[in-house]
Amino acid sequence: MAAWLRRTLVRHTAAQLKGQGIDKKSTQVKISLTDDTTSLLSSSKPQNVMKKMIAVFATIIPCLLFAQKTILHCGKLVDPQNLKVLTEMSVVVEGNKITDVQNGYTSGAAGDKIIELKDKTVMPGLIDCHVHMTMQQSPSAFTDKFKMNPADYAYQSISYARSTLMAGFTTVRDVGVVGGSTVNISMRNAINKGLIIGPRMYTAGKIISSTGGHGDVTNGLREDLLGDPGIDDGIANGVDACVKAIRQRYKEGSDLIKITASGGVLSMEKDGTGAQYSEEEIKAMVQTAKDYGMKVAAHAHGAEAIKRAVRAGVTSIEHGTFLDDEGIALMKQNGTWLVPTIIAGKSTADSAKKPGYFPEVIAAKAIAIGPKIQSTFGKAYKAGVKIAFGTDAGVYPHGKNWIEFIYMTEAGMPPLEAIKAATVSAAELIGITDKVGTIEKNKLADIIAVDGDPSTDIQSMGKVKFVMKDGVVYKND
Ligand SMILES: [Zn+2]
Repeated sequence: MAAWLRRTLVRHTAAQLKGQGIDKKSTQVKISLTDDTTSLLSSSKPQNVMKKMIAVFATIIPCLLFAQKTILHCGKLVDPQNLKVLTEMSVVVEGNKITDVQNGYTSGAAGDKIIELKDKTVMPGLIDCHVHMTMQQSPSAFTDKFKMNPADYAYQSISYARSTLMAGFTTVRDVGVVGGSTVNISMRNAINKGLIIGPRMYTAGKIISSTGGHGDVTNGLREDLLGDPGIDDGIANGVDACVKAIRQRYKEGSDLIKITASGGVLSMEKDGTGAQYSEEEIKAMVQTAKDYGMKVAAHAHGAEAIKRAVRAGVTSIEHGTFLDDEGIALMKQNGTWLVPTIIAGKSTADSAKKPGYFPEVIAAKAIAIGPKIQSTFGKAYKAGVKIAFGTDAGVYPHGKNWIEFIYMTEAGMPPLEAIKAATVSAAELIGITDKVGTIEKNKLADIIAVDGDPSTDIQSMGKVKFVMKDGVVYKND
């Protein structure tokens, strides 16, 4: 019965569409057929089936002939490229793309859908360049890894993806997981297939670290459990292994590379700032990544590690806590991005004050390193270092990413520049300016709206009321 129906339905549809001059490969047709086939198959009598089929085609065909536009009436519209807020604008969306931006409130043709955002401030979907979509810090994080399987992390992360999107972040750069899991790559694929709701993801897959370094998942374990983790676990030492690790990440499906150039806070190692790769090793990784069309993001807190990574040609320095004047000059000279993650520094320092929240070795580093990120960011920004918005979501609860805007403005960055860092600049860092980052013709329809006006009150960034990603509305309060 099922096979008979599917054959008849496909043949019938193809013939009808050919008659209407419509390509049967249209995605819209595919989606409609899948949904309607399911409901048809639940019917048992052939007469009922035919009646339903006629009803289905009566609704499909007109939709295809007269593609409906969605018009957003924007009371205020942020143009982050030019650091301006425009008033009374209309944004026209067709399918998953922006097809026009017009002055005033246009009404469109009969059948077009109007979304009223006249009392809101509309802007491009936000982009967070430093998230960990498949983890969330908690007092049990260290012991969880002995109990949880990759599938447990995957299910747990579904809500993280949803909260990130609902907070207005329509694109994220996931800078990897420690250890041997590629749950983040699977998550990216699941979002792309529409299996779960979340932001458009670009992911590093597994973080690459040196033995005993920030990304060595066996740090702090009993001697017989230390083992000697290798490339499959994200550990590589020496030029040859580093080159192979990049190729392995490419094979696994990473979009970019994340390396740990220095020690870090949330790992069970004593030193949170020292250099953990030689310049030669980083150079080899950068050059190999370039061959495979990938950029390199370097986690680095200490001044020496930052300078080695910048000289070796990485695209971005993550955190950059102890960046010194020489490092600032080098970053400007090389056009290296700084992704500050102020909120991560502050929230880990706060958690470290709660007795027993972190193991002692982590708490000490969190208090010493965390609070310094904000002032370093302020200094780097004023000196003219390129800044892209990034928060380290997962180190604090997903969905609170917007608080970074407050910390950035506190450190001296004007609100519209902070929004530019999370749209235009973030898209430039990731390499997707042809797709997202601004609201203009031919870009993907990633559009959000907030209550209030963030150019005068940055707290508005926490009041996201409308979220559209790829032309689909996920939130409209
Ligand atoms: Zn991170």
